[in-house]
Amino acid sequence: MPAWIEDRFEKNIITTTVDSLFNWARKSALWPMTFGLACCAIEMMATGASRFDMDRFGAGIFRPSPRQSDLIIVAGTVTLKMAPIVRRVYDQMPDPKWVISMGACSNVGGPFDTYATLQGVDHVIPVDVYVPGCPPRPEALLYGLMRLQDKIDRMTIAKRPTSVRFDDVKNDPRITQAAKEEMDRIGMKI
Ligand code: SF4
Repeated sequence: MPAWIEDRFEKNIITTTVDSLFNWARKSALWPMTFGLACCAIEMMATGASRFDMDRFGAGIFRPSPRQSDLIIVAGTVTLKMAPIVRRVYDQMPDPKWVISMGACSNVGGPFDTYATLQGVDHVIPVDVYVPGCPPRPEALLYGLMRLQDKIDRMTIAKRPTSVRFDDVKNDPRITQAAKEEMDRIGMKI
């Protein structure tokens, strides 16, 4: 979107109509980057194969270049040596772009609390969805993908994606409700 549009309009009939069209197009045609770091990447490849079939969610075309991708699935251990490369590749992706952190290593360093391992890829790039597990099964990655699609559905052309992400966390009652349902489901209380 041109920068002059951002942060100049409140939600109205025009922006919400255009938003629905853009969000539908964006969430239905995600192009993940062909990029894997460790064992989790094998599960990511399985997710793209016929048994699980990411194409059902419009995200099955893995692109060979960051310049053609709008989703990076960080699948595996991020070493300190690799971290700047992950950042560079992320920077080369055009906006709007999204990040799924797949697996315990990418989320928080996993079992590798060592001098050589980054303790979470969110130290170098912003993460939209964290998928837990070591490794997560393909179903878990697909669930993460659906959560990302929900998030994309809440974007608006009137704001920068970053502002939308902050507002998402602060204001959206659906997030509060989803968190409450999840806590009820696992029997957790605060
Ligand atoms: S989370 Fe587990 S499966 Fe995934 S990269 Fe780390 S050690 Fe491998």
